[in-house]
Amino acid sequence: MTSAIFPGSVTFCASTKLSFLQYIRENPSNRRVSASERESLIEWLTNPDKRPSSQQEFSRRHYVRKAFCWDSETQTLTAISKTGEGNNRAVVEEDAIADIVELVHEYNGHAGWDATWKDVSTFYYGILRSDVIFLLKKCQICAQNPSKQPKGPAIAQPNLQTGSGEDLDPDGLEYE
Ligand SMILES: [Zn+2]
Repeated sequence: MTSAIFPGSVTFCASTKLSFLQYIRENPSNRRVSASERESLIEWLTNPDKRPSSQQEFSRRHYVRKAFCWDSETQTLTAISKTGEGNNRAVVEEDAIADIVELVHEYNGHAGWDATWKDVSTFYYGILRSDVIFLLKKCQICAQNPSKQPKGPAIAQPNLQTGSGEDLDPDGLEYE
């Protein structure tokens, strides 16, 4: 898909995806969903014989049944919209975060951090804003086209010779 527009270029190269997996291992968050966590969510939703063995599990089951939904026909797990407005969001496993962010970012034409985060958070559950920023800073396409990168208010032309996004305001989320 990508190569149709920019021959030879990919949004996130293999090493970016690898370093992202390492990054999420080093920066765990209970707002992400691991493979085993996903299994557990589905089990609470689909197995009526599974009984909570502790008060904690009881609360957990209660929360899961209110907050998530399993569609056995399409085999999809979604997070239910809290406000009742807006759509349910697809639950994304940790291993798939980079692929989903890539998809969204390509689909929106390599929009900036805020626009991409808005699209990601509207349709998907389990991805942090800092994950999106980590990945977009390493986007190969945006790196080749610095005008695509958010620079804040119009200021003097930035030094483009490195083509790197490292000088951008990291929004207080610097994990380099
Ligand atoms: Zn990009």
